[in-house]
Amino acid sequence: MTNIGIVGAGVAGLHLGLYLRQQGIETTLYAEKNAEQQFASRIPALVARVGHTRERERQLGVNHWDGGHNEFNNMNFHIPGEHPMSFTGHSVDPLIAVDMRIYLGRLQEDFAARGGHVVVGLTKASDLEALSEKHDLLLVATGRGGITELFPVIEEDSPYTQPQRWISMGLFTGIRNVEMNAYVTFAPGQGEIFEFPIYSFAPNITGLGIESIPGTAFDAWTHLRYEDDPQAFNNGLLELLREYAPGTYSRIDLEKFGLTRPLDLMQGGVTPAVRKGYATLPNGKQVIAIGDAHFGNDPITGQGANTASRMAFLIGEEISTNQVFDEEFARRIEQRVRAYAAPIAKWSNAMLGQPEQHMIDLMVGAAQNQGLADEFARFFEKANEAWDSFGSAEGAAALMAKHGYQPAPAPAPEAEVTIEPAIHLTSATDPRPRAAEPEAVAA
Ligand SMILES: Cc1cc2nc3c(=O)[nH]c(=O)nc-3n(C[C@H](O)[C@H](O)[C@H](O)COP(=O)(O)OP(=O)(O)OC[C@H]3O[C@@H](n4cnc5c(N)ncnc54)[C@H](O)[C@@H]3O)c2cc1C
Repeated sequence: MTNIGIVGAGVAGLHLGLYLRQQGIETTLYAEKNAEQQFASRIPALVARVGHTRERERQLGVNHWDGGHNEFNNMNFHIPGEHPMSFTGHSVDPLIAVDMRIYLGRLQEDFAARGGHVVVGLTKASDLEALSEKHDLLLVATGRGGITELFPVIEEDSPYTQPQRWISMGLFTGIRNVEMNAYVTFAPGQGEIFEFPIYSFAPNITGLGIESIPGTAFDAWTHLRYEDDPQAFNNGLLELLREYAPGTYSRIDLEKFGLTRPLDLMQGGVTPAVRKGYATLPNGKQVIAIGDAHFGNDPITGQGANTASRMAFLIGEEISTNQVFDEEFARRIEQRVRAYAAPIAKWSNAMLGQPEQHMIDLMVGAAQNQGLADEFARFFEKANEAWDSFGSAEGAAALMAKHGYQPAPAPAPEAEVTIEPAIHLTSATDPRPRAAEPEAVAA
């Protein structure tokens, strides 16, 4: 009988573990934390899960948070500037946001209740060979750091060697959520602001965060340590919201506004990296990377958990229909995962860089054409298809034509360009590398 080991109990490890248990496959999760420790930890991310992930959760029977007030399908985009523009696109299925500490802890409990084995503790790279002897197949689902070094970075798919944004995201009180609405601000030259309702340990909580381009006002705030001066931290954020996200600011009750608790904040940077999807251990056995360990993206497009879940089903399907887990098996999985995840990585990486003209045309078009606004929102929902339209002038033109939208002629290339409504290209990015910053998440 097949016996599988998975190192790491994030979305990738848990969705795969739960899938395999549904097929009756013996599965062991090597988890850094038990469920209680997970509930009590620092928030690791602010995650919105889209329709296809929610459908898999229903299949796994772990859709515990359906029907709450933490869902949204109106995606409100705002681009501030001299001539600000805004548009609202509607996703087909509502997204949902649940505090990942609660989500992961609960799914780990589900996995154990369904006969999955959980071994708690940090696995070292040097443990992998011995672990692989205990299982027919071992998978590494440890996220972006640590033992993922086993899987070399594929340089041609990984254009950045440093984080392109510094991230500060957390849980806040004092923002009036509008039912079924989320808000995304793309502030040219500064970074992005995300706001959505989220299910957490207390009611009426808002997930709010900023991704900053180095050297900007956003950057100065994202580096503030809450513990040093909570008032300065909250006030600094209010200032940025007032200037760049006035819609969010207008819903704030100044008396009640603030970070909920120090542990409800994550700060850090992500170097996007596409890695080889498997490695051969000295004993000849294959170990397969899944989730961020294979495709680790900056969260700008909010796809990592959704992609990890998709990978889990794809790999689960292969495991449950095969008995031989050799290099050919590993290579086939890598190809299937790449076909799905590589366009998502390209889109995420493009969103971090200088926007090309067709990308600006798409956004300007979305502000004037509801069909395009909905398509834009659905990029987040069907991320593997976003690159078809976002990745080339031809793809963008086809999408705009489908909705009867004709972009204004492009300005002369050497001009300092201000598109109407204004996206000021010359100030629009070029994040400088930041050599000595730590990779990831401690406040
Ligand atoms: C601020 C932020 C916002 C985000 N927003 C979104 C979003 O809106 N939508 C979305 O889909 N994605 C989002 N993401 C990305 C998402 O969080 C990740 O892509 C996703 O969690 C990856 O899942 P994973 O299981 O591969 O890795 P992880 O979630 O990182 O899980 C890895 C697990 O492995 C454990 N582990 C690590 N090392 C070891 C070890 N040596 N031994 C044992 N266990 C180990 C860790 O404790 C952890 O539990 C966001 C990320 C951030 C940082």
